[in-house]
Amino acid sequence: MASTPTIQSSGIHLEPEIPICQTDLPLDWYQEEFKPYAEEYLALPDRTPASVLPWLDRYARPALDHFGDDLMLVAHFYMGGEIVKLVERYGGSVADSYALALQAARHPEKKVIVESAVHFMAEAIAILASDEQSVWITNPKAGCTMEMLAKDWMVLPVADQLVERYGDDLLCVAYMNTSGRLKALAGRTGGAVCTSSNAHLVVDWARKQGKKILFVPDQHLGRNTADRLGMDLSRVVALPDPQLGAIHLDDAAVEGGLAALDAAEMILWGSYCGVHTVFSAEHVKWWKERGWTVLVHPESPLEVVRAADGQGSTHYLWKAVMEAQPGDKLAIGTEGHFVRNAREQGRQRGVEIVHLADIPDRSFESAGCGCATMSRNDPPHLAGMLDLLRKGTPPDINRVLAGDNVDERTAARDRLDDTERRDLVRDARRSMERMIEITEAAGT
Ligand code: SF4
Repeated sequence: MASTPTIQSSGIHLEPEIPICQTDLPLDWYQEEFKPYAEEYLALPDRTPASVLPWLDRYARPALDHFGDDLMLVAHFYMGGEIVKLVERYGGSVADSYALALQAARHPEKKVIVESAVHFMAEAIAILASDEQSVWITNPKAGCTMEMLAKDWMVLPVADQLVERYGDDLLCVAYMNTSGRLKALAGRTGGAVCTSSNAHLVVDWARKQGKKILFVPDQHLGRNTADRLGMDLSRVVALPDPQLGAIHLDDAAVEGGLAALDAAEMILWGSYCGVHTVFSAEHVKWWKERGWTVLVHPESPLEVVRAADGQGSTHYLWKAVMEAQPGDKLAIGTEGHFVRNAREQGRQRGVEIVHLADIPDRSFESAGCGCATMSRNDPPHLAGMLDLLRKGTPPDINRVLAGDNVDERTAARDRLDDTERRDLVRDARRSMERMIEITEAAGT
């Protein structure tokens, strides 16, 4: 593998008196082992950094001293500003899913990796980790709703039907927001993983293989990527909503029947992100008519992306925020915590930033929301994870191994045996390494 993607500071500042924007979780949402930390946190007088930081220091500092350079903390940009800044405060990194996935492989000296984000991101780190590295998630119930609509038991039977019909002509491109089991499917079919920042490169590469592409799980990113590449959208076919039950590939399954499926260049799994599908072209129009520049994430619907001034990954959006000039006005269509963090940054530099769905007009019903599942990682989870690791008593349910399947409601886990996991890691790594090769060959 080549060079490490640089992770720079998010630039987010926590000001001592500005309240933290994290909603408290009810005590019974915490694992038993984490409840003592949650009780202390809930008893703090308020949620300002002036109160939270000294409390968190009591647990984080001894863990940092104990593990020294062996410890690596990572978080995603969609976490609330407090976790982002807390992780950075303790020497950790905040990044998008592409850069996060590479951290274990690029830093073999880090033996204990603690992740505050969703499960698939921690699993992606685990897939590329060595046997000497262990990966922990601060809350195993932090799932991604898009991934929850594309569990292996939903997708693999459909993939089997497609392989039966198209044989080696089928290639799977798996968005990073998938379990390792689907990344392994991509590897087995000669495909690759992609992220929102490199989906156009990966799909372009897949087209050049001359195969039919199964794109999982986000239909919107798949469609937007096809549009960006100038593909004929009549040959981009979406499978039925996976919430409607098991999918049988017959004439009733897709519009145009099996003939449309046979003619398709790309088949889209029907999942989506609830956070990014609240946006409409009317939202975009409203802000643009008032002089705002609209930038959106490509998990948004096609008509939103087409109407916007720019589209791109979390990394692209954050860069746009950091490079905006005083007086600029940006309406951003993505996850709510991200936009809140961005607004704080903009405010300090005279840049106005709003959430695309937060329109002060009652005829618009939707309001911008954050990723509720990712926010299940909060300060007590971080404090507890670090403290329990230091004491040598971390709950095994917080350990993340490649191939783990976690029920986000109950935290019940289905873990592969060693042989199955070895096979999965081989196939999933193949698809991730192919993504890395394609991305680095493009010089991005
Ligand atoms: S914002 Fe949407 S796609 Fe991203 S982690 Fe949350 S649910 Fe998943």
